[in-house]
Amino acid sequence: MHAAAALAQQALRPILDFALPPRCPGCGAVTREPHSFCLDCWSALTFLGEPCCARCALPFAYGEGENIMCGGCMAEPPAYDRLRAAVAYGETSRAVALKLKYGGRPGVAETMARFMQRHLDAASDPMLAPVPLHRWRIWWRGYNQAALIAAALARRAGLDARLDLIERVKATPVLRGMSPRERRQAVRGAFRVNPKRKADVKGRAILLIDDVYTSGATANACARILKRAGAGEVNILCWARVVRGGDH
Ligand SMILES: [Zn+2]
Ligand SMILES: [Zn+2]
Repeated sequence: MHAAAALAQQALRPILDFALPPRCPGCGAVTREPHSFCLDCWSALTFLGEPCCARCALPFAYGEGENIMCGGCMAEPPAYDRLRAAVAYGETSRAVALKLKYGGRPGVAETMARFMQRHLDAASDPMLAPVPLHRWRIWWRGYNQAALIAAALARRAGLDARLDLIERVKATPVLRGMSPRERRQAVRGAFRVNPKRKADVKGRAILLIDDVYTSGATANACARILKRAGAGEVNILCWARVVRGGDH
């Protein structure tokens, strides 16, 4: 879709959302409440929480105490301090993410934000920032899905958001199918802190927002440049986290 058309559609969306009955963001069935799932999709989602790795939120089968890290994080600590995700990546959570990414349904960002909000540590008063898309992808699609989620979450929680805090300075290839080392190399030098925003970052807790956390290569690259720019705590909050295999 042409960017202008996508923007026009986005501008109309709140009116349409208001006029039409609320729909399940998983399967499209009509629901009673807006931004909620039908019973089938709700049961199909795996909500994440404790017990899990203190750093990367990898679920543990049993509670092992606080501040316990998984083997992967112990062997190679991530650049971010703490990751949290609303749900495990699976058929339903993927369908929701795709609706936001390609379906022209920005209202879905509100649903994701609603379920991500319980993982928010508002006490640290973080500044929210989306993982950026490269310009041509934004142009093509009309928006960055992570920015829509960050804006919705900031609004709900009354927190600051800087949607242009991080810039993607080079397009990266699709990371799927690459080894962890190849992924790290692919995203090297791909991001920078927006030069106009450097003063905002110093000593500030930053919460990076993304839709799906897959290998961590992108999140780690963003966390690394934020730390280098003097950020305090850098945490990640995403809608869905891939749980099986290939972490980090
Ligand atoms: Zn459903
Ligand atoms: Zn871990």
